[in-house]
Amino acid sequence: MTEIATRFAPSPTGRLHLGHGWSALQAHDFATERRGHFLLRIEDIDPGRAREEHVSGIIEDLLWLGLTWEGEIVFQSQRLALYAMALEDLKERGLVYPCFCTRAEIAREIAASASAPHGPDGPHYPGTCRGIPAEAAAERAVHEAHCWRLDTARACAEAGPLSWTDGAGMNHRAHPQMHGDVVLGRKDAPVSYHLAVTIDDADQAISHVVRGADLLHATHVHRLLQALFDLPTPVYLHHALLATASGERLAKRNAAPAIADLRAAGVDPVALIEGMRAGQFPDGYRPLDLPVDALGP
Ligand code: GLU
Repeated sequence: MTEIATRFAPSPTGRLHLGHGWSALQAHDFATERRGHFLLRIEDIDPGRAREEHVSGIIEDLLWLGLTWEGEIVFQSQRLALYAMALEDLKERGLVYPCFCTRAEIAREIAASASAPHGPDGPHYPGTCRGIPAEAAAERAVHEAHCWRLDTARACAEAGPLSWTDGAGMNHRAHPQMHGDVVLGRKDAPVSYHLAVTIDDADQAISHVVRGADLLHATHVHRLLQALFDLPTPVYLHHALLATASGERLAKRNAAPAIADLRAAGVDPVALIEGMRAGQFPDGYRPLDLPVDALGP
């Protein structure tokens, strides 16, 4: 039988809020209730946004909540060579292409098109650079800033139909095309979230990915990348997000109170965690309903 392993994988771009604590709690308890392993991975691949002080903050907050992890913390910033190799592999197979478009050019192209397809993150990349012949693209790539995009249609054709299983044993069909040609190698960072997370979940032998329903859409891309790299597919459990009483999602950008603020206010972490385990949240917080596509095919 495969060993159960889950992970909490925060990006150190701010202090954790209670929604992060709720997510870490679910990944932690899922593993520990099954004699599995709960691991911590710091997703610090974004040099513009990741901060060392937030890494220590994450560690401090998890320890305060009593959510301890096993083994060494994995830092994505120390694994860049692995991601670069994976990207290189896709380049050799002709499954990614360099994209030289600026944001403004993409926006103009989309505005000019009568029917730009939309995905969960907005309009699809219009495919402008997909058709540049490989030799010309390679020449331009020497001098011009570019990112690397997945040729999603081609990758899907190579991978064939794909699905994953959720915690209830339900099969979900993967539709990576809903995202269009996603970026796998960024202009401003060596690699994208999608590529790094897929490789790391496999390398850390994560059997069950327990994470918020806001990442459900990303699973479609991760499933495709697993197929392209011949990696195992974990079971995915997408949990309900924590929101304010008025239903607003907790997020760094809407200044949700940080776990550090709760600590400073004298909140008892044991009571807080035990309460959340029993479905009782501090005043002002409540879980949102799960989106329908998280519930089954
Ligand atoms: N690093 C991601 C975030 O903080 C989460 C990654 C994941 O759970 O797949 O949103």
